[in-house]
Amino acid sequence: MITFENVTKQFSDGTIAVNQADFSIKKGELFVLIGPSGCGKTTTLKMMNRLIPLSEGTIYIDKRKISDYNIHELRWNIGYVLQQIALFPHMTIEENIAIVPEMKKWKESKVKKRVAELLEMVGLDPETYRNRKPNELSGGQQQRIGVIRALAADPDIILMDEPFSALDPISREKLQEEIVELQKQINKTIVFVTHDIQEALKIADRICLMKEGKVVQIGKPREFFTNPANSFVKDFVGSAEITGGNFDLLKLVHPLSNASSVDMFRINTDTSLKEVLDLLSEREEILVESDGTVIGKIDRLAIVNYFSGELKEGGLKHV
Ligand code: ADP
Ligand code: MG
Repeated sequence: MITFENVTKQFSDGTIAVNQADFSIKKGELFVLIGPSGCGKTTTLKMMNRLIPLSEGTIYIDKRKISDYNIHELRWNIGYVLQQIALFPHMTIEENIAIVPEMKKWKESKVKKRVAELLEMVGLDPETYRNRKPNELSGGQQQRIGVIRALAADPDIILMDEPFSALDPISREKLQEEIVELQKQINKTIVFVTHDIQEALKIADRICLMKEGKVVQIGKPREFFTNPANSFVKDFVGSAEITGGNFDLLKLVHPLSNASSVDMFRINTDTSLKEVLDLLSEREEILVESDGTVIGKIDRLAIVNYFSGELKEGGLKHV
């Protein structure tokens, strides 16, 4: 649905920020762009909604060149969450969320309904929050508003530039979980920029790792462990291997379709995240058994949380 064809961006001072990028992002996918600071992530993102013009190559959205779109049509169809949330301080939360719907001349009643729906979606009571000003919200709450504002006019694509990097670890983890949940609900294409491998592993359908303007590897999270393209990739994901924690035995069972063939894996303090992701490689979800009884389901997000020693209620969905 979004295709980069040999896209290069050279700034006027000669810096090549993106060098012959050639890849596609699928419809409905949570695509994570990752890489060290300065590798070209923000530039890649901004070229998609024409905030930055390309030097070479073509970007297509639904097989149509982005240069052929009317600029308003393009921008309205692409929600954008900035790294530094920029809510207008003099406007209420409702007014901040309603900016694009109002530009699109939605009826007032439709806007109100939409604002309430979005606030509820991120766990903020509409009646409590719609008339507040941004400075009456916590950092994590403001970040949620930044995210739902990008969703307000129901765009097909959402670009998010390190949206959680300024948050404390607890809010951050909560929002990571929410974005995965949200993505499941709304099934939009999300391009999510981060420099944090842990974050990428938690949320991505596919990861695109960049270095110095070049795409180094694109694939499912586990492929970065099982088939790293080179030593840079190995080192980059290597930092995510977590050991330690105090857990005993988890029995992981094949999903129901194959319930008769029971695999048991012992996970202990020496098991690396890589090994666990390998176990998850062909399985979306795994049933968790304790003393012969299925006690819940676990997915990649939950297991990564578990390995961070931070599995919380809700991470393990009881069946
Ligand atoms: P990232 O988001 O991965 O940190 P950026 O896309 O912001 O990286 O930047 C990629 C490279 O392009 C960096 O070397 C940065 O200094 C350079 N760059 C970004 N914007 C400009 C600009 N307007 N003019 C010149 N160089 C720029
Ligand atoms: Mg950036």
